Amino acid sequence: MFVHKVVHRRLGSPKPLTKTAKARVSTSAGNTEASAAARATLFAQVLLDLPVPHALQYRIAPEQQSFAQVGMRCVAPVGPGRLMLGVIVDLSPQCSIEERRIRPLRALLDDPMLSQDWLQFCRFAADYYHHPWAEVVLGALPPLLRRVPGPRAATRMARLRRAPPAQAAAPIEAPPDLREEQRKAIGAIAQSHGFAPFLLHGITGSGKTEVYLGAVATVLGSDPQAQALWLVPEINLTPQFERRLQQRFADVHVVSLHSGLGEAERTSAWLAAHEGRARIVLGTRLAVFASLPRLRIVIVDEEHDASFKASDGVRYSARDLAVKRAQLGRMPVVLGSATPSLESWHQALGGRYTLLRLEQRPSFALRASEGEPSEAPGTTAGSPSEARSAKEGPRVQTVDVRQHPPQQGISAPLRAALGEALDRGQQALVFINRRGYAPVLACDACGWLSSCPNCSAHSAFHRAEGRAGASLRCHHCGWSQPVPRACPTCGNQDLKPVGQGTQRVEETLREVLRLGWPAARIGRLDRDSARRPGAAEETLQKVHAGELDLLVGTQMIAKGHDFQGVSVVCVLNADAQLIAADFRAPERLFALLMQVAGRAGRAGQAARVLVQTRFPDHPLYRALALGDYGQFAHEQLAERRAARMPPFTHHALLTATAATLPEVLQFLSACRRSGLELEDSKSVVLYDPVPMPLVRLASETRAQLLIEAAQRAPLHQFLQAWLAQVREVKAPRKLRWQIDVDPMTI
Ligand code: ADP
Ligand code: ZN
Ligand code: ZN
Repeated sequence: MFVHKVVHRRLGSPKPLTKTAKARVSTSAGNTEASAAARATLFAQVLLDLPVPHALQYRIAPEQQSFAQVGMRCVAPVGPGRLMLGVIVDLSPQCSIEERRIRPLRALLDDPMLSQDWLQFCRFAADYYHHPWAEVVLGALPPLLRRVPGPRAATRMARLRRAPPAQAAAPIEAPPDLREEQRKAIGAIAQSHGFAPFLLHGITGSGKTEVYLGAVATVLGSDPQAQALWLVPEINLTPQFERRLQQRFADVHVVSLHSGLGEAERTSAWLAAHEGRARIVLGTRLAVFASLPRLRIVIVDEEHDASFKASDGVRYSARDLAVKRAQLGRMPVVLGSATPSLESWHQALGGRYTLLRLEQRPSFALRASEGEPSEAPGTTAGSPSEARSAKEGPRVQTVDVRQHPPQQGISAPLRAALGEALDRGQQALVFINRRGYAPVLACDACGWLSSCPNCSAHSAFHRAEGRAGASLRCHHCGWSQPVPRACPTCGNQDLKPVGQGTQRVEETLREVLRLGWPAARIGRLDRDSARRPGAAEETLQKVHAGELDLLVGTQMIAKGHDFQGVSVVCVLNADAQLIAADFRAPERLFALLMQVAGRAGRAGQAARVLVQTRFPDHPLYRALALGDYGQFAHEQLAERRAARMPPFTHHALLTATAATLPEVLQFLSACRRSGLELEDSKSVVLYDPVPMPLVRLASETRAQLLIEAAQRAPLHQFLQAWLAQVREVKAPRKLRWQIDVDPMTI
């Protein structure tokens, strides 16, 4: 722990350390008591990928002292005969343990050199999420730079630097004539000084990307070395954005960084960013840790998206870290979304983020005022007084299943709407957030339900498809088994699938449409149909090319796709998420449904979105029908304030897994007791440990302990002191625990 403090003082000091602070050996005359040998010795604090919460000390060999610098990677001996890669974060003539126990570093590597700024940023993330600094720093390096280099490493690095940018020369495209509101937004970002967080709010297609592009163009144009960081929520979206960036910026080197890249590609892109050759880095959440010496602007597209929060390891939020990074580097950061996270919206309402709004959707300016499709009774829309102009997007309606009982999951108004789209030669999407044929298989005779042997969950029934036979599968742990011929408990041979999944909806639609529209071409897109590499792109391409009339799918069809021919979108089974226990479930559902709805009418055609529900009067659906995010956010924030939930309070979650529930609960209770003894616990609430909603996952039992605080600072102060104790709490050998600051689900 002492080592930890030394490092902390050095990096925490307000005096900025010079970027290439050459190590100096102390030869001060005041140091007379030290032996000659000690005076000539230099010690390094080294971060290593080891399960210790602090840096380790090493000696720098005398002949290397003039070479050694903070930010170098190094090769360190660990234990008997083992070498590991480390990163030097401090050099000092002093050491904090007995000198003869300190071993010399084996080698110092000056390529690449890591900057102080970058190490500081990692340090912030480590402190904030209460994980070891080493884990953040080493985790942020591309895998190739994380290992002890072999004999041919230098050659390999040279090759990676020469690697041609993997981008085809795209035809250059001029920006469209921007609307006034877009120009204003770009102007506000371009004219900001220092740290300037913006929240850009506009529905899908309102031209947010054009604002990002304009802001990035201004920043890159005003400084020939400036770099931009552009975060997107999904790997799938990077090729499409990369193309758009290349079309817009002729001589700018764009690289992508995400976990889907091969080792060489990722290292090559990382180096291009680190050396300033790449001026735009496009990436998923891990790209927030890219080393960008001349970073001048940060963009976070779809900032509300849950994928920006890491769900294992260091549980960081790339969105929140992006804001912090902009603050440390004193630059603008633009968070954009059609449905901002309530955290960001709250910041904007409080004036801490500048709110920029895009009110129009350009494509709808073209929308013809053709007759509205006929409407069945029992479907609701926004009342006429609240009716939006046709410019604002598709018409969203709820379909009350109590008035229109679905057959095989599909009610009459949905069937009619789909038929109308087909009649007009337009396309339709059917969205259901559940893959497989049915979420559970049941025996009517004895009440048996298919379940996963490893999880506290049902196993889903998947119909035979391609080479895969019919199976029961767990969507949580991946367990699967052929479908039993008969009920395992009573032998009944008539097992029934209960409920709907994408496979079943696809089957039903084929049956239903065979009568009136025998030629309808129906496709499906979900994780199963997309298993084969390239399959998802093929299906999407078919939709774009008009070779499919109807596409059934999970949220894979919701994001980002610019389908021009879609005029009807049907949503099934949204209620499941409406009644979920997690307090963020409505927020996620609203965002998802807005996104799904945004797939309709993108070419300006009259479009409808039908949401089949048991609760047509639910405020969430009403706000959805009005396309009114502000209304929804207002209601949600009021509820959160009343219930003392984030963003009005701050959470941390200690989760633990072990073989049995008593073991986990006992451990968490002990943690809680030790927390209550701390002085710092006065400003936090430590709730009782409880089993997690999915208590058994992959044969492990999980429980959690929620910590709540009105202010962030005391929460961190408490966690700092408390986690030191948690590390000491006696636990069964197989027990593992994790701390999650600002958890997304509780
Ligand atoms: P968002 O990012 O908000 O979904 P985009 O910026 O991608 O929206 O814009 C949606 C479509 O509208 C794109 O094809 C884009 O080129 C086009 N677009 C955006 N702004 C304008 C504009 N001012 N004039 C014409 N077309 C525009
Ligand atoms: Zn049975
Ligand atoms: Zn399972």
